[in-house]
Amino acid sequence: CGIVGYIGTQAATEILLSGLEKLEYRGYDSAGIATVTEGEIHCVRAKGKLYNLREKLEREVNPANIGIGHTRWATHGKPEEYNAHPHMDTAMRVAVVQNGIIENYRDLREELKARGHKFRSDTDTEVIPHLIAEFLSHSATPGFTHSSTLFLEAVREAVNKLEGAFAIAVLSADYPDELIVARQQAPLTIGFGQGEFFCASDTPALVPHTRAVLTLENGELARLTPLGVEVYNFAGERLKKSPRTLNWNP
Ligand code: GLU
Repeated sequence: CGIVGYIGTQAATEILLSGLEKLEYRGYDSAGIATVTEGEIHCVRAKGKLYNLREKLEREVNPANIGIGHTRWATHGKPEEYNAHPHMDTAMRVAVVQNGIIENYRDLREELKARGHKFRSDTDTEVIPHLIAEFLSHSATPGFTHSSTLFLEAVREAVNKLEGAFAIAVLSADYPDELIVARQQAPLTIGFGQGEFFCASDTPALVPHTRAVLTLENGELARLTPLGVEVYNFAGERLKKSPRTLNWNP
């Protein structure tokens, strides 16, 4: 129900947690965050209040400066920890948080299962990391020209398979300097800092960090790196967009 994301130079965990707290008003039944450190995705989730997640995270020191977070309001699958986001692919190299509903998830799930993907939850969301991982494995075939937008391309191909209303944020252990976000009928806004970028379902999670924001339109996705933000449409065309200044009277 609530999405946050961070890429930059600060430790991500606290930024994600406090961002999720700002989105609590949207309602939720569980929460989780995923970060990338030393080439691995680290995913921590908890049922119930954000306090339960905070308690789990306080037991560790995590220097990661990229991460995604989520508060879930269950639509498909019980409100249990194994259904909490982020969700990952079989090899746990891609992590996804989603706000919304994937209408055609049953068909996609059956197709993916038939191709050997292992599912760990009952959610509609889990098809997304599996799809992205599959597109990434295609493009990683020897001889394929390596491009800087490989991860973005895999996410773009995956969202083109999805039907429904959704906003997503995606991480990959193999592309630790990129955060990909996409929007189709569910809100998602990007916040611009100095060498750091944020994303969130709603602006209250962004205003403690920046007033320069860009709200994605339906059918758009963006690639956030520590160097900047690139926006594309679902057809893969680069769009020229710049942030606006948020008028915010606390
Ligand atoms: N449909 C997804 C789920 O049930 C996301 C729900 C939400 O927006 O929190 O896991």
